[in-house]
Amino acid sequence: MITVWGMCRAAGTGAHGDLGTAPRRHGRGLVRSTTVTTGPPYVLRGPLALSRAAVDRAAHRRTDEDWLARAWADPRSRVLVVVDGRVATDGGALRTVPPTAAPEGERYLLGVDGNGSVWFAVHTSRLPAGSSGAGLRELGAVLDDAQAGMVVHAIALANWHRTHTHCPRCGGGTRPEAAGHLRRCGTDGSEHFPRTDPAVIVAVVDDEERCLLGRGAGWPEGRFSTLAGFVEPGEPLERAVAREVGEETGVELGACWYAGSQPWPFPSSLMVGFYAQARSTDLAVDGVELVEARWFTREQLAAALRSGEVLMPPSVSIARRLVEGWYGGELPGGSAWR
Ligand SMILES: [Zn+2]
Repeated sequence: MITVWGMCRAAGTGAHGDLGTAPRRHGRGLVRSTTVTTGPPYVLRGPLALSRAAVDRAAHRRTDEDWLARAWADPRSRVLVVVDGRVATDGGALRTVPPTAAPEGERYLLGVDGNGSVWFAVHTSRLPAGSSGAGLRELGAVLDDAQAGMVVHAIALANWHRTHTHCPRCGGGTRPEAAGHLRRCGTDGSEHFPRTDPAVIVAVVDDEERCLLGRGAGWPEGRFSTLAGFVEPGEPLERAVAREVGEETGVELGACWYAGSQPWPFPSSLMVGFYAQARSTDLAVDGVELVEARWFTREQLAAALRSGEVLMPPSVSIARRLVEGWYGGELPGGSAWR
């Protein structure tokens, strides 16, 4: 592992000449250029719960009204009912209904599954009788791959439609088009597309292979996670990683490696995961976004999880999977956030 770090550091130095050698002083907010290289030192274990999208989104059918009408008339088609960021469930399992049993509401085309069945979502205000609602945090682990893709798509779309009823240019009302993948302003005709807000999330590891975890402002004592933050306009992902870590903890980063991404529609994020190498280890927590940060060896983290001193995010989160990639397996202790 040390060798891998060394190789990657050398690669970063080569790419950036003056940036890779003598340490320079950087104040908070001033970040060194961070290099993304190939050859990550750690990899995520297994698929991310909400990234399993074994689905044909059938984007070319969104404006094909004849095809959409035939699909809606087909009793094999499946409809997810979405209410307030939750989908209808029955006994803890996802509940779909045929189109004839679907409630009134905005209709979105989600795609076609491996059996050729067309999936829609209906975004409405009331769950079907006899069903209850569940969100992605509860459902993430119990859905199969096709269901996970459909449900994440449906909830992300519903979240966007709910908050984009008016045109940002003129304030006129907007209406859905393209089977839910566009809203058009009724006044000036402008088109508005569903948005996704990228956020970076990073497991920072130092030369002793300790992992940096932090406790966010407002979190209860003992709750720790990897560092994360939104990407700002005009900012490359790797710069966002270095900036967030620098701002929140004062730690300077060397190279970083893309690890994987997971949609996180709470309400509209895409979490882009990285591993990053620390160039410094002194911690200066900002006290605003983060109130506590600690370096953990694998042994320290395992002991703290077993004793309940530390709680990690649930397995549906990319944060936990990043840490497990560094740890080398499933984290011990059943404790996770509620
Ligand atoms: Zn308008």
